[in-house]
Order: sequence, then C-alpha cells, then structure tokens
Amino acid sequence: MPQPKKKTSNSKTGHRRAHWIRALDIPNLTTCPQCHAAKIQHTLCQSCMTYKGRSYGVPANER
Ligand SMILES: [Zn+2]
Repeated sequence: MPQPKKKTSNSKTGHRRAHWIRALDIPNLTTCPQCHAAKIQHTLCQSCMTYKGRSYGVPANER
C-alpha cells in the first residue's frame, strides 16, 4: 500500500476541519419554482410537496 510521504501538520488538519464544520451549519437554501418558498436544494419542497415539477403528496395547507 502507498503511504503519505509527510505527516499532516496540525495546521493543515485544522484548516480542513474548519470548512467541514462550516458546511454542516449552513444548509443550501433555494426558492421553490412552484410556490417560491425557501427550501433546501435537491430536496422535496415541504410547503407544496413537489420536486422537479412532480407532486409527491398533498400539500400541508390543503390537507
Ligand atoms: Zn414549493
């Protein structure tokens, strides 16, 4: 098995982990093309229950 030539410094480890933590905290928010509500990217819209133009259930406000 090939091995790393140098030990990863504490500084480099810290820089890498700093970005990893930041990515967890901030979700990728976008607006829904159907109802223009804020939603997380690449997920089902929770207010109109559609994704990519397809409906996946009855919206919460019409139940
Ligand atoms: Zn929507």
